[in-house]
Amino acid sequence: MGLRRSVLVRGGTVVPMAERGAWQQADVLIEDGRVASVAPGLDPGPGCEVLDGGDALVLPGFVQAHVHVVQSLARHRAEGLPLLRWLAERIWPYEAALQPAEVAAAARLGIAELLTGGTTSALDMGTTHDQEAVFSAAAELGIRLTSGKCHMDTGDGVPAGLLEDREESLAQAEALGSRWHGSASGRLRYAVAPRFVLSCSPELLVAAVALARSRGYLLHTHSSENAQETRVVREQTGKGNAEFLSEVGIAGPDTVLAHCVHLDEGEVHLLAEQQTGVAHCPGANLKLGSGIADVPRLLRHGVRIGLGADGPPCNNRLSIFHEMALAGTVHNLAHGPGAVDPWTVLEMATWRGAQVLGLGDEVGRLLPGWKADVVVLSCSSLAMEPAADPAAMVVFGGGVESVRHVVVDGSIVVRHGELVTADASAIRREARGAAAALTHRLGWS
Ligand SMILES: [Zn+2]
Repeated sequence: MGLRRSVLVRGGTVVPMAERGAWQQADVLIEDGRVASVAPGLDPGPGCEVLDGGDALVLPGFVQAHVHVVQSLARHRAEGLPLLRWLAERIWPYEAALQPAEVAAAARLGIAELLTGGTTSALDMGTTHDQEAVFSAAAELGIRLTSGKCHMDTGDGVPAGLLEDREESLAQAEALGSRWHGSASGRLRYAVAPRFVLSCSPELLVAAVALARSRGYLLHTHSSENAQETRVVREQTGKGNAEFLSEVGIAGPDTVLAHCVHLDEGEVHLLAEQQTGVAHCPGANLKLGSGIADVPRLLRHGVRIGLGADGPPCNNRLSIFHEMALAGTVHNLAHGPGAVDPWTVLEMATWRGAQVLGLGDEVGRLLPGWKADVVVLSCSSLAMEPAADPAAMVVFGGGVESVRHVVVDGSIVVRHGELVTADASAIRREARGAAAALTHRLGWS
């Protein structure tokens, strides 16, 4: 990342996401990493780079509340399995086999996909080892990433290569947090990430909470994704998954639970009362046949919700547009058409997601003084015609092909659809080579 120049996005339809249903024709001036002004006819000034916003929608950059970029090399290689078999037969052996250069290749591929798809902020979960490579990739490519190594010290089917010593695992997290939290001008943050209840001893969960709270890091885990998982958690703990997590302290405004598909009534109230964040991942939930989180009900109770693509092997893409289209349609099956309206969906992909990540004071809206994370979406694709309500256009007609320019923290990371912070074809080549070597070692090819 070079010196941040000022940037002017000229001539677009700005959708600030400050007020639903509001948009205006305006320019956006970006200085020192923040939005300086949103108004028509702004002067670029000397040295300012101008981005074309003509025939485009200009929005706050998209936020994803749950991804695993480290799983990118297993994409298209873990098909047709339910969650626990998908983990034990494909994902865990894959993660155990990853070497440092392969973690780097996977992270670079995933982050490049996120950025070129308009996602500027994400909450990510790594594997148990080589988490440095994820942060290095995020620092280099320019995304705003909150991430952490995952913790695993028990569990059926967990390969030896992922089973950790509890103390050592937590010491690694502490060292990673010290090195990376707040780095890259604050773009990178640490999150303590016990994988899920079935791979963590209660002692590990309690210690993870203590570490996160003592350092001010987010807590990030999976909960209530799949019926079998939720049943086994109940057999082991006597409680619902989210209820048990709350009991050990994994709850509250600094906590993000991915999925929350299988909740009982009491757990919905707990999530709302404790202001625990939820990452709704409809693409992954449909692909693994896990179920559909009852988002209309959660929203009605005031639960904070963001969207996430989850991992490339369970989606198989990291497109916020795929998740938005699903979040705007899949709930109609149970609740009728319009169950989650497009403005609410767009909010989950912007400021609601940013709030879930603890960034809601300066990310997720396009307003003067806020962090300059901006996406310019071309309206020239056939599916975007004819222009109408921007939320309906983006949620139902948008796609990664709509992404023209992306700015993160005031720096241009995608220009005319092309990644500018790294060579995307080199990233693809590197990923292909690493995936070929890995799948060969795993006996998958
Ligand atoms: Zn996940």
